[in-house]
Amino acid sequence: MSEFKMLIDGRLVDGASETPVINPANEEAVAGCPRASKGQLDQAVAAAKAAFPAWSKTCMDERKAVLNKIADAIEANLADFARLLTQEQGKPLGDATGEVYGAAAFFRYFAAQDLPAKVVTNDASGRIEVRRKPLGVVGCIIPWNFPMILMAFKVPAALLAGNTVVVKPAPTTPLTALKLGALIQDIVPAGVVNIIADANDLGGEMTKHPDIRKISFTGSTETGKKVMASAADALKRVSLELGGNDALIVLDDVDPKETAPKVLGAAMQNAGQVCIAAKRIYVHESMYDAMCDEFARLAGEMVVGDGLEQGVQMGPLQNKAQFEKVLGFIESAKKDGKVIAGGARLGDKGYFIQPTIVRDIAEGAKLVDEEQFGPVMPVIKYSDPADAVRRANASMYGLGGSIWAKDADRAWALAEEMESGSVWVNKHADIQPHLPFGGAKFSGVGSELGEEGLKEFTQVQVLNMARA
Ligand code: NAD
Repeated sequence: MSEFKMLIDGRLVDGASETPVINPANEEAVAGCPRASKGQLDQAVAAAKAAFPAWSKTCMDERKAVLNKIADAIEANLADFARLLTQEQGKPLGDATGEVYGAAAFFRYFAAQDLPAKVVTNDASGRIEVRRKPLGVVGCIIPWNFPMILMAFKVPAALLAGNTVVVKPAPTTPLTALKLGALIQDIVPAGVVNIIADANDLGGEMTKHPDIRKISFTGSTETGKKVMASAADALKRVSLELGGNDALIVLDDVDPKETAPKVLGAAMQNAGQVCIAAKRIYVHESMYDAMCDEFARLAGEMVVGDGLEQGVQMGPLQNKAQFEKVLGFIESAKKDGKVIAGGARLGDKGYFIQPTIVRDIAEGAKLVDEEQFGPVMPVIKYSDPADAVRRANASMYGLGGSIWAKDADRAWALAEEMESGSVWVNKHADIQPHLPFGGAKFSGVGSELGEEGLKEFTQVQVLNMARA
């Protein structure tokens, strides 16, 4: 039996079946993982539904105390969480430590928020208030690239608003979520938080479940469309954080040596498996060759390996399917452009891919038009900044984007024209708990984090009284 259990109705339980979680650095099992049956999902939803009336009536201070205790539990187990995260996800231990620490910080952020009623009228005629009520059971569906932090985008906000939750991590990275379940068993009242693992077969069951009132989903655009369609029947609320193809535009006044490592970092973090990784790099023609040479040099120097080893800067791709998909992107890029660094897998064990730079490539190529979600960076030449923005906007995606320039005001003016949910100047992928995060176009519906994200876990209610 696995040492990992699911948390259902306050009890730690085995799954209906068990299959291993694979360490992508060596293709060996990290541990066996319980997998829930449809019946166990139903039990988790029933427990959350039964726990909702009492939890939704608790005062905010009580909920905040629970969130802070969860943060304490994460922090007290930081090193163990980070190690497990590296083993199941692949990222370097330093990055895993940062993610775990960030997850605790996001719980603390929401523990400090409030949802005060807005008094619109209060006079001799009567009183009118706009209130924020919880929705009921919220289903949280998580992808495999940031299992801990993305859970912390959703769970604390849902709980603070008075909802109960059923959490489903991705089938290839469930262990950190299950570990959290074991740690919070005695912190959270039974049924308020339920954490199950599946074999990639229960997401659809959650989205159509009649007793789940909202789905908070992070994952691919293709699956996001299925979530929306399947949620329609029960008119479930959905927030969808989906795929991206972020453009990063380098203007003609930067210092290539200074800028290149930052741009490369924005593309290669987490082996490129970041929804807001820089995925299309537009560089002005005046410094195109210099930047490409610098990218190739730096990519060639990156230390790729098992994230548990010291000094490793980039780990493997998280799973075999993604590994093969990214190798397919490289093959097509060899036809569509010129590979100037990397271009192949690394070694013959583990899902490692060399940091890859492709130049002389443009729109119409698969690597430019589609989301690669891997360490393969296309560098595209442009001559007119306004045209670069137009080309950046010509994507169906609209998650993030950035403009880089010495003259930050000039970059700001161009940033205003970008059609994405977040636009950065001289940085990329700066996510903070108090800033709403969400995608335009095919990158999502709604937002998470900040006041806006918190409110998405609520229903507006107007209380309107006439004084007799
Ligand atoms: P995915 O869509 O394959 O899976 C995400 C989750 O959905 C998993 O838990 C999976 O089990 C579940 N799922 C599978 N089928 C489902 C269905 N029919 N209904 C409901 N849930 C279902 O995505 P992935 O490959 O795990 O993650 C990578 C993608 O996620 C990339 O496109 C990336 O850009 C995106 N992403 C977006 C954000 C964001 O905030 N916008 C953040 C991280 C990742």
